[in-house]
Amino acid sequence: MPAPESVATLHRISSRWLLVAAGIVVIGFSLICGSVVLSMRRGDDRLAHQTLGNLASSIDADVARNIELYDLSLRNVAGHLTDPDVQAASKAMQRLILFDHAATARHFGAIQVMDATGRVTMDSEAPDPAPQNFADDEFFKVQKRDPLFGLYISKPRLHQGAYGIVLSRRVAARDGTFLGVVSGFIRYTYFHEMIARLQLEPDDLITVIRQDGVVIMRAPFNMDEIGLDISRRRGVQKALASFSGDFVGKSLSDGIERLYVWREGTHPLIVMVARSTASIFGQWRQEALRIGGAMGALGLIACGVMLVLAREMKKRAEIENKMARLAMTDSLTGLSNRRHFDAVLETEWRRALRNRTRLALLMIDADHFKAFNDAFGHQAGDLVLEGIAWSISRHAQRASDCAARYGGEEFALVLPGMSLTEAIELGERIRIEVGELERDGMTTTTVSIGVASLVPSSTTTTGHLIKAADGALYAAKARGRNQTFPAAPLRKWMAA
Ligand code: GH3
Ligand code: MG
Ligand code: MG
Repeated sequence: MPAPESVATLHRISSRWLLVAAGIVVIGFSLICGSVVLSMRRGDDRLAHQTLGNLASSIDADVARNIELYDLSLRNVAGHLTDPDVQAASKAMQRLILFDHAATARHFGAIQVMDATGRVTMDSEAPDPAPQNFADDEFFKVQKRDPLFGLYISKPRLHQGAYGIVLSRRVAARDGTFLGVVSGFIRYTYFHEMIARLQLEPDDLITVIRQDGVVIMRAPFNMDEIGLDISRRRGVQKALASFSGDFVGKSLSDGIERLYVWREGTHPLIVMVARSTASIFGQWRQEALRIGGAMGALGLIACGVMLVLAREMKKRAEIENKMARLAMTDSLTGLSNRRHFDAVLETEWRRALRNRTRLALLMIDADHFKAFNDAFGHQAGDLVLEGIAWSISRHAQRASDCAARYGGEEFALVLPGMSLTEAIELGERIRIEVGELERDGMTTTTVSIGVASLVPSSTTTTGHLIKAADGALYAAKARGRNQTFPAAPLRKWMAA
């Protein structure tokens, strides 16, 4: 019976496709969500680069403007100090000419002029400067040693009673002879106030570095880092080497991972701004977890539903198969029922017609069965019918053979491709086997078998075959039962 198997295969395939489709949908959605989440991260990363870059640029611009302004004043002093007209003027006049008001801004200290020995000769804030000597100071030594240094920015230090950085320029005669140094002072309060104006995240870090890698300013303020040479640190090396850029690294002081961005101005300082990756991606992380969680839960639910559905489909297919099998099976004998027999005979008939092959049919009927029933009871009769069915199905071994209960105590056996003689032989084997079936040591019953075999033609139908086999069975009965008898054409052939 091939039909139920194909129903099962169909359902197995459809439930498998259902699972495959569900898998593809879940994977597809996961990929889409993944790419959305990743692009959200890229957006946050881009925004952080932009924000920190702008912050670095604006701090840089402020520092650059102030240093430039102050430097102009220093250059004015250095340039005019050696002018003979200025030197000829009175001390008060000299102060008026040399010290403009640009350098009197709030965070700027006094401009001082030192002679070649380091002694302070002029002070923008005191007409009679107190005796002071900077000969041993680093800035003085640098300017004395290097005629081409230009503007020198000192490490942060105590100067003029406050903490800050000293800006200095060399004073030289026309022939280049060292005549002294002019220095200015930017108080540290300048940086503190500028930083205080900015809106920063708690973990943000701002570092102003001198070109040689010395930390000039740091926010949050950390005295241990100020004045420190950090030029050997990996990221800082990169910052000192390129005009602007960024890198992600862990801070040595607090171990927090940060994105560092720097924009270098034209002045000798580099502004580096850093923000912790936790604060850059904090919100994104929460969103990603929420989306990922929801996606995972939905995926699990979808998979669960699909699994249940597939199992139900499989169960249904099994039930349908069972029902289909029951619908074509005779409940007492387990052979095909009359309906299935009719269908199989029709199919095999058409196949034989197409292939011009033979189709044989055996009609098998229990002899004197009414009498048997009467003698031993209906239940015993049923057992005998099961025995006959067992024997018939044992002899219908090829896949295309079909044994059926034709009705009551009558059976039919469709044998595609079998000749009449082969069919008679098979019938005989069945008849003999049934005749040998015993119950309580007694022979149960015998069968009469009518055999027909023909090559279907366009003018014949299955009715002809059944009629021929039936006629043969009738003849077998008439001839005394318990025998196999062929249909008319062979009888003619046998007679001939
Ligand atoms: P014959 O040799 O001419 O075939 O005689 P017969 O008695 O077998 O034929 P008949 O058609 O007169 O009787 C058939 C009997 O088969 C009648 C009925 O009691 C019995 N029979 C039909 N179906 C069943 C069944 O399912 N179970 C049992 N136990 N008996 C059945
Ligand atoms: Mg009978
Ligand atoms: Mg009968």
